[in-house]
Amino acid sequence: MTAVTDQASAVRPAAAPHHEEPIGTVVLDSVTKRFGTAVAVDNINLRVEAGEFLSLLGPSGCGKTTTLRMLAGFEQPDEGSIRISGKDVLGIPPYKRNVNTVFQAYALFPHLTIAENVAYGLQQTKVAKSEIRTRVADALDMVRMRSFADRKPQQLSGGQQQRIALARALVNRPSVLLLDEPLGALDRQLREEMQLELKLLQSHVGISFIFVTHDQHEALSMSDRIAIMRDGRIEQLADADTIYGAPVNAYVAGFIGQQNFLDATATDAQSAESSVGLVATSTANPAIHAGDAIVAAVRPEFVELSTSSTGSVAKALAANRFEGTVLSTSHLGETVQFLIDLGHDVSIQSRLPTPSAPRLFAGDSATVSFSADSVQFFPAASTAPHDSTAN
Ligand code: ATP
Repeated sequence: MTAVTDQASAVRPAAAPHHEEPIGTVVLDSVTKRFGTAVAVDNINLRVEAGEFLSLLGPSGCGKTTTLRMLAGFEQPDEGSIRISGKDVLGIPPYKRNVNTVFQAYALFPHLTIAENVAYGLQQTKVAKSEIRTRVADALDMVRMRSFADRKPQQLSGGQQQRIALARALVNRPSVLLLDEPLGALDRQLREEMQLELKLLQSHVGISFIFVTHDQHEALSMSDRIAIMRDGRIEQLADADTIYGAPVNAYVAGFIGQQNFLDATATDAQSAESSVGLVATSTANPAIHAGDAIVAAVRPEFVELSTSSTGSVAKALAANRFEGTVLSTSHLGETVQFLIDLGHDVSIQSRLPTPSAPRLFAGDSATVSFSADSVQFFPAASTAPHDSTAN
């Protein structure tokens, strides 16, 4: 996250461009939006680079759509400023912002052909007829729908209609495209196809895309960077690798991917005592001190399993090594997922590639282990939203 402050902006005319912010750059500077007493967006600082694909990801009600609507001009911030392409947009109406929004509902005119739907906005702004023809054809080419130009919307599938909605937004040549869950109405397979297409399209047109979603797979598969939001704030802003591999707190760790969380008490910054035994990490968290309540996070794909030779009741063997009993085995195609009871009301999930997964079934004794490199410690206060299997 880049906090952007510029003392000089207070004395500049509102329209003066910030020359260091190229066309397509979007900057939110200490932006807050309230509805009555509820704070929907809480002092957000964010800089989206020109040509970047940035996703706002978070649970329902965390402020994603409100942030997007402020960028579009449908809402005004109570505090802070927003710049698009270096220009302060406070008070500038949506149609003068050189941004376009694609919504989940395609909202195509049913009585117009596809070409007429795409041309509509250009006709309203009195663009010359010959130019409209060229731009509509180009926009339909971009979404691979030119051969459908003479059809009506109801003669297209949902995915095709969403492509037309995209073409309609791109035909205006915006410097920034805002997308509010645009794939939400599509079935899973089509959604995955459209994710690939959208990413390709974005790199082809070079326009900044700001994409709102609550679907982590969608965000991970398409974005250059992802802003993870909670309660109107950005918890972490980083690329997918960093968000997945080095989350800043337990909330982010639990929001992206699957995660096991073990409650424990730190003995130092790298080891902690849980109810099932000692947990160790190779990455010291400077916020953690001896005696602190922590959660140790380890992803299921790093939890190794082997057949237990002892067959004894659950007990700890060494740091990051425990004995337990398999509660369930689920075949998921490429992987097999195991749930193992470690005793003391603690269970842990393991997900292993099918070819190397051990043949273990409910009731079998198993040894569970994971490396210190795969464990992260977080203060217990930075609670996780969901998916905490171990506890
Ligand atoms: P979802 O994924 O469900 O769309 P979101 O992350 O986009 O959620 P927002 O729609 O931005 O969340 O809403 C953020 C908060 O602001 C919520 O608590 C919501 O109830 C509130 N809110 C949004 N719009 C309004 C409004 N017009 N009036 C009052 N409260 C609102």
